[in-house]
Amino acid sequence: MPGLELLSTLLRVDSTNPPGNEGPAAELLRQRLEGAGLEANIFVSPGGRRNLVARLDGPRDRPALVLLSHTDVVGVEEERWSHDPFGGAIADGFVWGRGALDMKGIAVMHAEAAAAVAQSDTELRREVIVVAVADEEAGGVEGAEWLLDAHPEAVGFGQGRPAPEVLGEGGFGLSGIIDAPVMPIVLGEKTALWLRLSAEGDPGHGSLPPRRNAAHNLMKVMGKLSGYRSPRIHPVMRDQFRSLAEASSGGREKAFRTLAGSGGPLVARALAKQLRAAGTIGALLADTVTPTQVSAGYKHNVVPGDAQGALDCRLLPDTDPAQFVATAAKTAAKYGVTVDTIGLNGSPVSERGRFYEIAQEVSRTLASNMVVVPSLTPGTTDVRAFRKRGATGYGWVPLVLTPELLATIHGHDERVEVKGFERAVELMTEAVLRACS
Ligand SMILES: [Zn+2]
Repeated sequence: MPGLELLSTLLRVDSTNPPGNEGPAAELLRQRLEGAGLEANIFVSPGGRRNLVARLDGPRDRPALVLLSHTDVVGVEEERWSHDPFGGAIADGFVWGRGALDMKGIAVMHAEAAAAVAQSDTELRREVIVVAVADEEAGGVEGAEWLLDAHPEAVGFGQGRPAPEVLGEGGFGLSGIIDAPVMPIVLGEKTALWLRLSAEGDPGHGSLPPRRNAAHNLMKVMGKLSGYRSPRIHPVMRDQFRSLAEASSGGREKAFRTLAGSGGPLVARALAKQLRAAGTIGALLADTVTPTQVSAGYKHNVVPGDAQGALDCRLLPDTDPAQFVATAAKTAAKYGVTVDTIGLNGSPVSERGRFYEIAQEVSRTLASNMVVVPSLTPGTTDVRAFRKRGATGYGWVPLVLTPELLATIHGHDERVEVKGFERAVELMTEAVLRACS
């Protein structure tokens, strides 16, 4: 079966980031793609990280189709795994290993799809570019971001071409949400905004409470800012709820219909306290602010003169980050706390282009009752780097996961079902063929 052996081999490469060591993984993909007739190159970043780009030439008056994956993985707690996380075992109907889902499994789907297109007699109507980058799990500085800055022409930009269409991660099908399986097609991501808080106060002896206590004021500000802010229904989520309502019945249908309707924003506000319990969906209905770092003082009876903290803010794509920071700074200033932006990473939401329709149709062949919905993701992926440079980006993987399997991503016992993977390779091939012919 195409892809299975390649996936197992790729999983044996320990590309835990840091340090990454994506080289051997990029090399395996290069061999596979060159063997199928693609022209492949490995672009080495200043930090020595290896990014694979392989291409099938086609007319350049249409956007190139970029199949984007990453070859690095997050770390493992080996003793918690039932199989060697870097063993690539094929057992009990699964392929086991760190990266089986995030995202070496998808890199193989992309590679096999491009190889199949190359070896078919299809007359390509656009370029197809397979991109497997390094360093995604640490922000893409040596991967997608660097590649796009240093070699934009290699990944579908410039040279008189319209901006590319990019297919990346973020959109696994899910069972267990409603009775039918749900396939999200991700059109956008929340904006990541990281803030540093600094408080100044009066140092002194712990026996005498100071007028301005830096640690106390920092905690107050963190408490005031953190949580689910401005709950509302983003247009993409409104469309998602509409589709979910159509596929549901009874109380569930009513709930989704209410969320999709004109009363949706009101309901979201009323539910603000329950959004945390709603997991991913809850995170997609508000801007979230999560305290992640706190530091102050060095001894229990000494009042520190300063205190620092950090907030991880994830904003809905239509929240203006500058406005958000200004409001936070105003609140913080009341307590003598200053707010500095230490990181901001956002991208526009993509329109539904031709590939959306193809992904929708192909997803429906996976199950007759498949409910395909547009979606956002709370986290960020490398597709962001393309979207912010003008590309249309989609997160779509034609594979349905149970909640249990979904939890193995960045968790223990990450694995992909052999049957589901093989079917996903076929469907990815089908989608790419339709998108480029
Ligand atoms: Zn990933």
